[in-house]
Amino acid sequence: MNLIAGHWTPALSGETFARRNPADPDDVIGEFPQSGRADVAAAVDAVAEGAGAWAAAPADERARVLVRAAELLEVRRAELTAELVREEGKTPAEAAVETSRTPLNLRFYAAEAHRIGGETYQADSTLVYTWREPVGVVGAITPWNFPLNIPSRKLGPALAAGNGVVFKPSPVTPLTAQRLVEALLAAGVPPGALALVHGGAEPGAALAEDPRVGAVTFTGSTAAGRDIHRKVGPERRAQLEMGGKNPVVVLPDADLGRAARLIVKGAFGLSGQACTGTSRVIAPPEAHDALLERVVKLAQEHEMGPLAADFQLRKTLEYVRVGQEEGARLVSGGQRRDGRGFFVTPAIFAEVTPGMRLAREEIFGPVLAFQRAADFDEAIALANGTDYGLAAGIVTHDVRRALEFARRSRSGLVKVNQPTTGMAMNAPFGGIEQPFKEQAGPALMHFYTHQKTVYLSE
Ligand code: NAD
Repeated sequence: MNLIAGHWTPALSGETFARRNPADPDDVIGEFPQSGRADVAAAVDAVAEGAGAWAAAPADERARVLVRAAELLEVRRAELTAELVREEGKTPAEAAVETSRTPLNLRFYAAEAHRIGGETYQADSTLVYTWREPVGVVGAITPWNFPLNIPSRKLGPALAAGNGVVFKPSPVTPLTAQRLVEALLAAGVPPGALALVHGGAEPGAALAEDPRVGAVTFTGSTAAGRDIHRKVGPERRAQLEMGGKNPVVVLPDADLGRAARLIVKGAFGLSGQACTGTSRVIAPPEAHDALLERVVKLAQEHEMGPLAADFQLRKTLEYVRVGQEEGARLVSGGQRRDGRGFFVTPAIFAEVTPGMRLAREEIFGPVLAFQRAADFDEAIALANGTDYGLAAGIVTHDVRRALEFARRSRSGLVKVNQPTTGMAMNAPFGGIEQPFKEQAGPALMHFYTHQKTVYLSE
C-alpha cells in the first residue's frame, strides 16, 4: 500500500503490480500499488501540508524517533533478513549484513540532528551568524540492491534535519521499503511528515518534476539519474548517485591469493549487483594468468543468490553473448543455473580490450572482465578509461604506487588492498562526476538544509 497523510491506500487508479521471489517466481510476495502522477501529487500535498510540525519538533525529539525506529528494526531483524532474501535474492549472510547496518545508519543520523549548526562572523559591531533550516519536502528515489540501507541513508538524514519526505522505492523491493516506513511511523514520525508511493519510473519522474519538492535525492542508474537531474533543473537541488564500471588494478608485487579473494568478493558478492562492484581486473603480463586461474577457482566456489529480477537475468546473459561476439574469451561461467529462479554462474572473460562494450558499459551483474596492462601507466589509463568514476581499487605492497594510483585515479572512491565494495558510514561517498557527491560525510546534512546568514544589530 501507499502511505499518504497517515493512511495506507491503494493507487488512485486501483492498478497494482506483483512482486515475486527471484529464486522461485511462482512465490508471489505481494501486490503493490502501481502509482501514477495523481498519487504523487496527493503525497506531495500531504507532506507539504503536514511536515511543519516535524520541522518544529526539537532536535532531541527527532533524534529519539530515529533511534526508536532503529530499535524496532533490530527487534525484527531475523524476520527482515528472511524477507530480504525472499524479495531481493540476497543470500542470508548478505541480507543479515544489511539488516544490521540499517539501524546503525538511523542511529548515526539521529546524532546528526544535534550536530546541525552554524557559524558566527565578526563584522564590526554587527553579529553575523549562519543558521540551517530544513529544505521542506524531500523526494527520495531509490534502487533495489540495498532496499533498506540506501533508503535509510536518505530518509534518516532528511528526517533528522526536520524535512518531510516522499519516498518512492524501487518496484523490485516494495515490501522491504514498506517495512522501513512502518518502523519510522511506529517510532513516531508524524504521518504528515512521511509518504510512501510505490511504482516505477512514472511516479519517480512526477516526484522529480514537482516544484514543491525542494530536494531530490536519487540513487540508481546513470540514465535515470541524468533524466531526474534535467527534471529537477537548476532552481532546486538534486543529489545523484549513479552507476560504476569499477576496476581493480593488480601490480606485479601483489599477493595473488589476497588479490583473488578481494576481486571475487567485489565482483560476485550480491551476485554482482553492487554499484561499487568490481567489473574489471587490470593485470600485468607477469601476474595475469596465475591471477585469472585463482579468480576462476574462487568464483566457482562462491555462493551466489539469484539475480533480483528477470530483466537482470536477461541483461546478464545478453552481455555474456555480447562479450563472446566481440571476441573476448569466456573463461568460466555465464550460464543459467536452475531453470526456475534467476540464477547464473559467475562469468569471467579474458582478453577484453578497451573498445569492447564489456570494458565500457555497466552490466550490474556477475560478469568480470580481465584486461592486460603492460605497465603501471597503461594500467592507470585503462582504469580511468570509462565514462564512470565511482570506485577503483589497487592491490600492491608498494605504498608509493598506491598513493600515486589514489592521486591519478578518476574515481570518487579509491580502495587499496580492499574490495571495491563496502564503505564507512561516516565518510564521504560518491562518484567523481556526480552532482552533490556528499552522500555521507560531514557535508551531507548541507544537502538537506538551507543556510541563512543573519545580521543582527541591537
Ligand atoms: P534504476 O535507475 O532503474 O531505478 C532506480 C530508481 O529510480 C527506482 O526507484 C526507479 O523506479 C526510479 N526511476 C527509474 N527511471 C526513472 C526516471 N526516468 N525518473 C524518475 N525515477 C526513475 O536503477 P536500479 O535498477 O533500481 O538500480 C541499479 C542501478 O543503481 C545501477 O546502475 C547501480 O550502479 C546504481 N546504484 C548506484 C549506487 C551508488 O551509490 N552510486 C548504489 C546502488 C545502486
